Amino acid sequence: MRFQDKVAVVTGGASGIGAATVRLFAAEGAKVVVVDMNEGLGHALTDELDEGRTHFIRCDVSDRVALEAAVKDSHDRYGRLDILFNNAGIGCFGKTPDLDPEVWEKVIAVDLSSVFYACRAAIPLMRAAGGGVIVNTASISGLAGDYGFTAYNAAKGAVINYTRALAIDHAREGIRVNALCPGLIDTPLTAVAKQMSGVLDVWLEGIPMGRAGTPEEMAKVVAFLASDDASYVTGAIMIADGGATAG
Ligand code: NAD
Repeated sequence: MRFQDKVAVVTGGASGIGAATVRLFAAEGAKVVVVDMNEGLGHALTDELDEGRTHFIRCDVSDRVALEAAVKDSHDRYGRLDILFNNAGIGCFGKTPDLDPEVWEKVIAVDLSSVFYACRAAIPLMRAAGGGVIVNTASISGLAGDYGFTAYNAAKGAVINYTRALAIDHAREGIRVNALCPGLIDTPLTAVAKQMSGVLDVWLEGIPMGRAGTPEEMAKVVAFLASDDASYVTGAIMIADGGATAG
């Protein structure tokens, strides 16, 4: 029970990697607030888990006022905030000349700016309590770039370096900050692309392990980073991609 008496906030916690992490945090004793815009999935998840130990807040993380309020409300509800998992994310295909500026701004708002605003709300609360842990979901697309995913690549690359900046700035306040860089993970985010003929085969060819990862495998990495097992780990960019970027 690594998270007994801990309180965690998980953005994008209603589905995929976020939902698997909510389940693991809760199973290991945490009280967890799921912050997500998908009300149906969010309520279904908190209903499934122990009543009173999890709570759902409907929030579009691109709305900075609502997001900062959600972080503060989570703290006030359970009286503390130990773990912030910034995981909400969207992807969008489009090369620069064809990319609608509104789509660019939306992807940057959801995938990058939300990390800043959630941290802006959480860090003073963690600092006052003597410390805390932040994990940001980036992507291997933020390391090497994925063809055509212009805004996504830009946002995830920035999340990686922002994670390093946060780690440096807040290490002496007892706040550890790390990033998860998943490769291809079997979630609703990738389901559409996988239905397109041939796409999955091309993706799998680039993965030495020959398969996509599962949300549960990502949750275990997040839980390690969020736990005291990683007490000397900060500013780390943790790749979990079946070897896709190893070559
Ligand atoms: P998912 O679609 O299953 O989950 C994403 C969650 O984020 C959903 O619950 C969705 O409702 C929520 N969300 C999206 N926009 C939101 C908004 N504006 N406000 C609040 N909530 C919002 O996808 P996933 O694969 O579990 O993605 C989780 C994270 O992992 C994302 O940041 C994604 O970029 C990253 N990632 C995923 C993969 C992959 O292959 N699945 C690879 C690398 C990185």
